[in-house]
Amino acid sequence: MPTKTTSPSQDFIRSIIKEDVRRKKNDGRVHTRFPPEPNGYLHIGHAKSICLNFGLAEEFNGLCNLRFDDTNPTKEEEEFVESIKEDIRWLGFDWGDREYYASDYFDQLYDWAVKLIRDGKAYVDHLSAEQIREYRGTLTRPGKESPYRNRSVEENLDLFERMKNGEFPEGVCVLRAKIDMASPNLNMRDPVMYRIIHATHHRTGDKWCIYPTYDFAHGQSDSIEGITHSICTLEFEDHRPLYDWFIEQLGIHHPQQIEFARLNLSYTVLSKRKLSALVEEGHVRGWDDPRMPTLSGLRRRGYTPEAIRDFCERIGVAKRESLVDISLLEHCLRQDLNIKGPRVMGVLRPLRVVITNYPEGRVEELEALNNPENPAMGTRKVPFSRTLYIEREDFMEDPPKKFYRLAPGREVRLRYAYFIRCVDVVKDQKTGEVTEVHCTYDPETRGGWAPDGRKVRATLHWVSEKHAINAEVRLYEHLFTRPDPGDAEKESLDFRSFLNPASMEVIPSCPVEPSLADARPGGHYQFERLGYFCVDAVDSSPDKLVFNRTVTLRDTWAKIRRRGLE
Ligand code: ATP
Ligand code: MG
Repeated sequence: MPTKTTSPSQDFIRSIIKEDVRRKKNDGRVHTRFPPEPNGYLHIGHAKSICLNFGLAEEFNGLCNLRFDDTNPTKEEEEFVESIKEDIRWLGFDWGDREYYASDYFDQLYDWAVKLIRDGKAYVDHLSAEQIREYRGTLTRPGKESPYRNRSVEENLDLFERMKNGEFPEGVCVLRAKIDMASPNLNMRDPVMYRIIHATHHRTGDKWCIYPTYDFAHGQSDSIEGITHSICTLEFEDHRPLYDWFIEQLGIHHPQQIEFARLNLSYTVLSKRKLSALVEEGHVRGWDDPRMPTLSGLRRRGYTPEAIRDFCERIGVAKRESLVDISLLEHCLRQDLNIKGPRVMGVLRPLRVVITNYPEGRVEELEALNNPENPAMGTRKVPFSRTLYIEREDFMEDPPKKFYRLAPGREVRLRYAYFIRCVDVVKDQKTGEVTEVHCTYDPETRGGWAPDGRKVRATLHWVSEKHAINAEVRLYEHLFTRPDPGDAEKESLDFRSFLNPASMEVIPSCPVEPSLADARPGGHYQFERLGYFCVDAVDSSPDKLVFNRTVTLRDTWAKIRRRGLE
């Protein structure tokens, strides 16, 4: 079992918080928040942030708020708000009655903007967006002051009020903070605080036609909520001096921002912009496509909240960016499903087997263990009869040396049933393909053991033909062929060109054992020898059973660890 990279008690964020609590900073209070922008579905990267923020609140007897950072009316939708809440609850976290929206603070933010204007620390700028960019300068070249920078307080107050009243079209002017155009930190070069957007907001409707930028809203929203530790990803490190500046100018409660490295996962993209492109351009079947790294996609695929939380704990938090191997996520899932998932038998690509010495019409109910790892899960009956299906790849007419499964003359075990020996094959006259295998069974081997102690080298899964029910099965591979598709752009390549054309295979009709007639949407099973499967909660119906393969049984992470290559 992999050891945890950083145990939660000793990562750098927990050390900071522990020290703050010890020094009675904020009266020893710990109050965090998870601040999604409702412009997409949550993904596994967000899960890392959720587990961290809600986890810290739990550990330090504090609180964690849910706050939607809804400052951009053009990209945000109610659908996203609902999905975000559902996903956080599914992960097992609770924000109580503390569901907030940055838009709840628009009046307060407006008043603070007016205060900064009065104090001579903000001004209305009529430069175009392009000029503002040009005047900003670069890392090596200082910026240039706007000709509108030294407008009088009265003029600024008047113009800002008229911006608010809808007197100007979009893009005519903006409100900027008056800080320092020569600052080595580009974020401090008079950043934009408000822009004109004539759009309807999902909560405030048409009340506003000016909207605060994320930079002007985020830190103050944290402050209003009394957040003590404002935890965010590394790209906001350079914004911290700006957030601190606003808070100091306004003289309000000062949360401490702490940055950590975002999660990057191999064979996956975790940028909402890229994920929404995949959805909108139809590369996947929706935000909850089982190939998506979204929480709704992972859930539909068969991931459990326990597996995702275990994963987030094992990856820990650090200051340095890294690419986490997706096989670690799969490993966490197998650990969880191995205990939970009942074993069943189903056949993906059936080959008919006729047991020629088994009486026609006879049916035996054989006892099978529901989970050998968890005897408390009990047993079930599986019907056995003269005609069965086995997996096509479990038979070879002319087997190579290391193939130990069924072949002419060879004896194998049928799981929980009997030893069978292949005595004949039936072929398609035209293609020469084997269409049926004839076997005899040894009645002495009921249950799968020979009283004379003779051994067989293979145990096959099987389903009785006349008792089988049909299921559609969807098999998945990584969505991308390249371990770091997110980095493609750094090489001027389009991440879409690394989409895996074989990421989904649909097998429309697979025989599965009759106990699955009771399978409920979202139910987890281990199909013997084939992997973990989950009943698709969207496309399954009482007369059509659809399974997603969650993950195969092959644990590449465990193998990597054994080889010491981690
Ligand atoms: P993207 O960059 O994909 O558009 P985002 O960061 O803009 O995502 P938000 O809705 O703003 O998405 O994110 C909410 C919270 O989740 C933020 O605190 C953000 O830092 C955190 N978060 C987003 N992506 C990751 C990730 N890959 N790993 C860890 N935390 C993340
Ligand atoms: Mg963001």
